[in-house]
Amino acid sequence: MPKVITAREAEELLRKGEAPPAGAILTPAARDVLGGGSLQSAFRGTGARAAAKPAATPAAAPATPDLEFRWTPGSDPRTPAEIAAFFRSPALQVLKERICDIGRRLWQREYTDGNGGNITIRVGDNLALCTPTLICKGFMQPADMCLVDLDGNQLAGTRKRTSEAMTHFGIMKRQPAAKSCVHAHPPHATAFAIANVDIPSCLIPEAEVFLGKIGVAKYQTPGTPANADEVGEVGKEHQAVLMENHGVICWGKDVEDAYWKMENIDSYCRTVWIAAGLGGGLHRFSGRHARELIDIRQKLGMPDPQSEAVVSAVAAQILRQLGGK
Ligand SMILES: [Zn+2]
Repeated sequence: MPKVITAREAEELLRKGEAPPAGAILTPAARDVLGGGSLQSAFRGTGARAAAKPAATPAAAPATPDLEFRWTPGSDPRTPAEIAAFFRSPALQVLKERICDIGRRLWQREYTDGNGGNITIRVGDNLALCTPTLICKGFMQPADMCLVDLDGNQLAGTRKRTSEAMTHFGIMKRQPAAKSCVHAHPPHATAFAIANVDIPSCLIPEAEVFLGKIGVAKYQTPGTPANADEVGEVGKEHQAVLMENHGVICWGKDVEDAYWKMENIDSYCRTVWIAAGLGGGLHRFSGRHARELIDIRQKLGMPDPQSEAVVSAVAAQILRQLGGK
């Protein structure tokens, strides 16, 4: 079993100028300590590296970090022993720590209150890690996490799963690209959700690219099958969903990706709210520019469940609304 390097151990290794054991796995916090990237790149320039001979091989090509969890289809653990081993595996330990990290960031930005919000990561055909119920997202420990199947049956973990996991799975069952969901009650976006005010589009380019078209799910009682169906249907085609009279749920290829959407939507709503109070109106950019942003989103490979035809139709609709050409 590969050794998992914690942040404290990473600090100790850095201090000694030593490299970690071959094949070791870095926790997210340890990666932060080491400045990101691979173990090899992390130790480039440390004492250990400086004392070593020059590398015989050229430096690796620049890469974009990829946190997506991938599994072999049909390989879900089945027996109690297999499930227990999987739940304790280094790979899931990394994901549990990552969920705690995202929870802390949600709480620090005041996107969650009390025990609000929940986080899931899909880890198999019919498996997901999720946060427990009745816990403050700012102070979770990896040992608090739950392993459940996509029907909500709890398979591992000492704390009871969140009641809103089924809402996340409503999206995951309909949209395979949704590997992680983050739900919270960020005040600015949630204000639009309770005031029943549409979030205007074509105001800030980054929002168009990184959020895409924001979906709106009709109000249903949280935690109910009706809510899972409503949010699932809307979330199938939108990475950021405003839940009427409730909050926001976002999805991505990994939990960091899903969380970024949460920051994106609340920051956007906050800025729109401030701008709307300035008295000068909201100045949208032109239809041509809107279409260019949709093209950028597609070229970036952002998961866009909408077909080319639908995207074109949306672009045409925006063009019509704006009177562009
Ligand atoms: Zn909620």
